[in-house]
Amino acid sequence: MNSLKNSEIKKKIVEKLKSCNSVAITCHLRPDGDCIGSALGLMLSLREIGKRAEIYNMDPTPCFLKKLPGAEEIKNGKIPEGFECIVFMETSALERSGQENPDAITIHIDHHRTSEEFAHINWIEADRSSVGEMIFELLLENGMPITREIATCLYAAIFSDTGGFRFSNTTPRALKYASLLAGAGADPSRISRILLESHKKEEIFLLRKILETVRFNETGKIIAAFIKRKFLEELSLSLQNVESESIMNILRSVEEVEVALLFKELDNGYRVSLRSKDNVDVGRIAESFDGGGHPQAAGFNINLPQEEALNTVFKRIEEMFPWVKKLG
Ligand code: AMP
Ligand code: MN
Repeated sequence: MNSLKNSEIKKKIVEKLKSCNSVAITCHLRPDGDCIGSALGLMLSLREIGKRAEIYNMDPTPCFLKKLPGAEEIKNGKIPEGFECIVFMETSALERSGQENPDAITIHIDHHRTSEEFAHINWIEADRSSVGEMIFELLLENGMPITREIATCLYAAIFSDTGGFRFSNTTPRALKYASLLAGAGADPSRISRILLESHKKEEIFLLRKILETVRFNETGKIIAAFIKRKFLEELSLSLQNVESESIMNILRSVEEVEVALLFKELDNGYRVSLRSKDNVDVGRIAESFDGGGHPQAAGFNINLPQEEALNTVFKRIEEMFPWVKKLG
């Protein structure tokens, strides 16, 4: 029933995109590899069929993602008037795009389970590894162009949200689509270099500072680390341009760790990124702090001093998942 509904939604999306001359695409705030890669893949495919397609994001593209094909054309700011159709790329809710309610046909494509149906057409499937996977399917099923550049962007999107095909959302379908994208010209080795091995020298020194802040809860199942503003200032880095998934992966790599937390210091309080292995649903934890996300990757903001913030989050996780407090 649901898959029938989804196939009808996909059909409607393609019909709408094909009937419009101009399409604007927008990503969520603090865009990541999945939404940027997906937005670029869709933009480039629409251009191939003669549409005017542009991406407008409220937040800038992180440095390392600027190497993806077409990324140099991403525009910063509000979507100007005049687009017939607007695609919201995994924004969950209108507010997470930072855009205003537009006077155009809207399409929302997302894989967050808490996603709101705020657009005219909403295609939301929580069991998808990434929106990259959804965009690829949309293009493939409808005979839309998939050039080498498009394949590169969509492969990067899937790679990004599956943590390089390591997280539990690495499904047979995600791997199959990645394989088809490699067949269409995406270069797996080059893309993994772009996404994981594009660090600045300073980021190694930043990593050293971050690792000095590492803390565990009593059982060692929760690990936390801090990116303090002074670390960034000392190294002339900005939070926006630090690729933090690699840091999360180092924290996650401790065998007994179930939840990894990275506290990023803001003007007021911290942005907390959460990553988990299979057993803790960090999306639920983030939601309890008015944030959101997926079972294995989520985020929220907390406005408390360092120690209080750390203890509050440790305590909340232990309350919600009491076994985290038990050894073994
Ligand atoms: P972050 O660590 O901030 O990059 O967040 C990890 C993932 O959680 C993001 O890629 C989003 O998919 C999701 N996420 C973070 N914050 C929210 C939110 N407020 N609402 C919904 N999803 C979120
Ligand atoms: Mn995603």
